[in-house]
Amino acid sequence: MSNSQVIDCDFDYYSPKTVEEALEYLKSEGVKVLAGGTDLLNDIKTGEIVPKALVSILGINELDFVEFEHGFRIGPATLLCKIEEDDRIKKKYPALCEAVNSMGGMQIRNMATLGGNLCTASPGADAAPPLIVLNAKVEVSRKNGRGEIERRTLPIEEFFTGPKKTVLEQGELLTSILIPEPDASSGSAFIKIGRVKLDIAKINCAVYVKGEGDICKNVRISLGAVAPKPVRAFNVEKALAGKKLTASLLAEAAEMVSQDISPRNARSTAVYKTQAASVLIQDTLTTAWNRSGAGREVKE
Ligand SMILES: Cc1cc2nc3c(=O)[nH]c(=O)nc-3n(C[C@H](O)[C@H](O)[C@H](O)COP(=O)(O)OP(=O)(O)OC[C@H]3O[C@@H](n4cnc5c(N)ncnc54)[C@H](O)[C@@H]3O)c2cc1C
Repeated sequence: MSNSQVIDCDFDYYSPKTVEEALEYLKSEGVKVLAGGTDLLNDIKTGEIVPKALVSILGINELDFVEFEHGFRIGPATLLCKIEEDDRIKKKYPALCEAVNSMGGMQIRNMATLGGNLCTASPGADAAPPLIVLNAKVEVSRKNGRGEIERRTLPIEEFFTGPKKTVLEQGELLTSILIPEPDASSGSAFIKIGRVKLDIAKINCAVYVKGEGDICKNVRISLGAVAPKPVRAFNVEKALAGKKLTASLLAEAAEMVSQDISPRNARSTAVYKTQAASVLIQDTLTTAWNRSGAGREVKE
């Protein structure tokens, strides 16, 4: 299907001011959430999605917040440009800032939201790997039969179920993203390889690592665009955990990523992606390790 550049269908449009109101509209079949529209409007133009109605969430203050009072909570309607400009996020969660900063051009980042990136659930969505390694949780809300709002919270890894698929059902809204405080002596980083700067990822990678002296105490690695949904590199993590981090150990462990991924030929070959994944893990982990403590280097 090609993008006709025009919206060739009729639908109702609602602009609620509260989550309660939005959830009421969303109960009906065929009603879709509209955030920045940078993904959804393309899908409507190509005819992939034919909505009965759109519910814009950009006017709902309850969904647009960055809060550091009880851990770090961020609203799904937060624009990407707000995240990349926030020094508190940059300092504590550099992997998330680097991912957001790599997304599209300035025009896209001025319109697109964090929640939209997660709910689209593209296998290469850039915000997913950093949030996975940062141990984020997502809060999903819906209205029950008695008209009360019910909320459930789940680890972000469980949110994605397949390409362009999440656990969200009709009537549900992503209402919050919660990220725990990083440990002392920890660091995070994100690196992406794209065909050109403004393109979506051929492959992306985020790492969170906590060090204790030279020992890699705790490490989480996630990759995008190498499987139907963002994945953890569990085999690589296992090969590194509790060991003295050296360049040769890292190179050896990173090779094990081939057991964690199932890439297909999309934007580059599966062979390329498997080789790139290993190199990307080494680079991203080295940056995260440097950030985990003053002067920490990966030595031979
Ligand atoms: C030119 C261009 C470049 C791009 N570059 C990148 C890139 O480099 N990296 C990248 O990852 N992506 C990229 N994208 C994709 C897109 O911009 C991002 O995924 C963006 O974050 C989507 O956010 P949005 O607010 O525009 O979502 P929308 O398009 O409004 O919504 C996307 C989907 O999420 C649903 N949704 C949105 N919010 C919620 C919510 N709170 N609860 C439930 N469902 C919700 C919508 O119903 C829809 O199905 C690019 C897109 C374009 C057009």
